[in-house]
Amino acid sequence: MKIILIGIQGSGKSTQGNLLKDELKTPYLSTGHIFREMAKEKTSLGRYVKEIMNAGFLIPDEKTIHIVSEYLKKPEYKNGYILDGYPRTIEQVEKFENGVDKVVYLKVSDKEALWRLSYRNGENGETREDETLAAIRERIELFHKLTEPVLEHYRKKGILIELDGERSIDSIHKEIIKKIKS
Ligand code: AMP
Repeated sequence: MKIILIGIQGSGKSTQGNLLKDELKTPYLSTGHIFREMAKEKTSLGRYVKEIMNAGFLIPDEKTIHIVSEYLKKPEYKNGYILDGYPRTIEQVEKFENGVDKVVYLKVSDKEALWRLSYRNGENGETREDETLAAIRERIELFHKLTEPVLEHYRKKGILIELDGERSIDSIHKEIIKKIKS
């Protein structure tokens, strides 16, 4: 099964993605993670990605589409995946050739996301460089402007699952499983 996870930063996508990975025995892939790894490289591409991420902007569509398509060609993703953070713009939706079965939208208010992010730490326990208040605000704004049309696209296709993301991790997980299987 091919599942997309959408939500503003702090909505719990990676938490739910990892739970789904175990439950559905399907690989999990996060574009944010891919780009954070790229940003660590001491190359011009690494520095370029880092600068864009730290400002809270999106990596240009052309580059993102190319990178994600290359990743999804790997044999482990042939039978399905849980994709967190992509597609995020209408252009990415249009160029996305891999097909999608269900799109899960974890809905949390901007206020709740900002609150959660001010208290969380990075993947290795340290504060993430791309999580300054200015970058988080920019990302939330871009979500409303560029990613809401993506939600509308999948809503019209009838494959959007909208969930209240301001509940316990476990109850959200159970609801996702129930709705994905129905
Ligand atoms: P995330 O962890 O999903 O919030 O992603 C962190 C950052 O990675 C974003 O702020 C973007 O700079 C970049 N990024 C992740 N996914 C995408 C995407 N689909 N398109 C463009 N940039 C992305």
